[in-house]
Amino acid sequence: MIRFPLLIGGAEVEAESGRTYDSLDPFTGRPWATVPDGGVSDVDRAVRAAREALNGPWGRMTATARGKLIWKLGDVIAREADNLAELEVRDGGKLLREMAGQMKGLPEYYYYYAGMADKLEGGVIPTDKPNYLVYTKHEPVGVVGAITPWNSPLLLLTWKLAAGLAAGCTFVVKPSDHTPASTLAFARLFEEAGFPPGVINVVTGWGPETGAALASHPGVDKVAFTGSTGTGIKVGQAALENMTRFTLELGGKSAQVVFPDADLDAAANGVISGIFAATGQTCLAGSRLLVHESVAEELVSKIVARASTIVLGDPRDPATEMGPVSNEPQFRKVLSHFESAREQGATIAYGAEAVEELGGYFVKPTVLTDVTPDMRAVAEEVFGPVLVVSTFTDEDEAVAAANGNEFGLAGSVWTKDVHRAHRVAGKLRAGTIWINAYRAVAPSVPFGGMGASGIGRENGIDAVKDFTETKAVWVELTGDTRDPFTLG
Ligand code: NAD
Repeated sequence: MIRFPLLIGGAEVEAESGRTYDSLDPFTGRPWATVPDGGVSDVDRAVRAAREALNGPWGRMTATARGKLIWKLGDVIAREADNLAELEVRDGGKLLREMAGQMKGLPEYYYYYAGMADKLEGGVIPTDKPNYLVYTKHEPVGVVGAITPWNSPLLLLTWKLAAGLAAGCTFVVKPSDHTPASTLAFARLFEEAGFPPGVINVVTGWGPETGAALASHPGVDKVAFTGSTGTGIKVGQAALENMTRFTLELGGKSAQVVFPDADLDAAANGVISGIFAATGQTCLAGSRLLVHESVAEELVSKIVARASTIVLGDPRDPATEMGPVSNEPQFRKVLSHFESAREQGATIAYGAEAVEELGGYFVKPTVLTDVTPDMRAVAEEVFGPVLVVSTFTDEDEAVAAANGNEFGLAGSVWTKDVHRAHRVAGKLRAGTIWINAYRAVAPSVPFGGMGASGIGRENGIDAVKDFTETKAVWVELTGDTRDPFTLG
């Protein structure tokens, strides 16, 4: 068992209550790490430490110096990538090959935003008033409470941190209770990169207590949340009570739309990647396949053929293609979807069962056909390797079906017709659309959802402004005394 302490104000500390809990390895189902069970008072300490850093050495640092530290952090993460990947796999059960790639890509986010720290320029604004100089400044929003999910803890934290640090913010992070260890280990790297204490603080604990304490803390200036839509609504409401800014990166039920002229091998591969990679536990999972009726049988048979050869097993084994479901509640949820699909009359084209001989929380990649919109597996985000397949006869029907739920995170269009590709991409209501591709993200490309998939965008140039407040400064140039009863 490895023991990880909290990080508050640069110090490794235990929860004030002295309580701890164990993190389980989803492959073995056994505990492997012990972490503090942080509570309300620990969140409070962490918020105060973040405020002190903001008002202290971090806040006084030049933007250029801040940028250099962020770059250095990228270098330290690059060196530690293999260790971080190992921790992510132990905690979350995702494939080592996926997490090793993810961790090697992590520094790129810090390099991208490091250069932005001293390029957050305000402007000099012409106005309709004579004798005023008006300029704007982008000031850090302040202390950010970052609440993250279990599916890619460090990547999704990085989507907040890199831009927020460039803007000059400090952070209190509450990782998912299912995957607390990697964030605690990651935060220790800040000291080595040369950050002053308190720029990042981590409090582990349970969502409804520790997460809620952070979301509702009056000392937090912005909450950056990634997680389910239901929790996101609660977090947004709690933040609003204090007029705390918030961004919400939430769930999805994304459609992959396949037209009859598509390269069906490429589309099958894209669909497989979209729903079975990471055991379907990604917000951007392409969990709904909408395929033209003329090619549906052929495409589904290609997908089923590949699904039936997916290698399940130890996430550390390079041959493994699908690891376990990440935790027990999620495992139960996926099984309940299998049950409902059967009860509600879906055809099981493949899977829909647990793989008990592997131990842990393994389920088969699952393809459901003959589905209707009211079925649970169609209407709800499963967050597991479950693909539901529907057919369409024309473009309008495809677009209406793709847009037919409250989510709007992502989607794809598979066609060789360049006109149709862009036309349909324009009509799909989602924050990200891939054309003849799936599952590509980059530091420079905005990511986020429409509708129930969230509020705000992470990544890209504009994300850094979401961690700032714009201040307009009016300078009177004449020195005269003005009429106090007229505006301007
Ligand atoms: P979750 O909503 O259960 O938990 C997310 C985080 O919120 C965890 O840290 C949890 O402890 C905390 N939390 C729980 N209750 C809370 C409360 N009342 N107040 C404050 N915090 C609370 O989500 P999850 O199961 O960890 O993650 C899966 C979900 O995340 C899926 O819906 C998925 O689509 C979504 N997700 C979205 C994105 C995106 O970028 N849009 C990325 C990854 C995952």
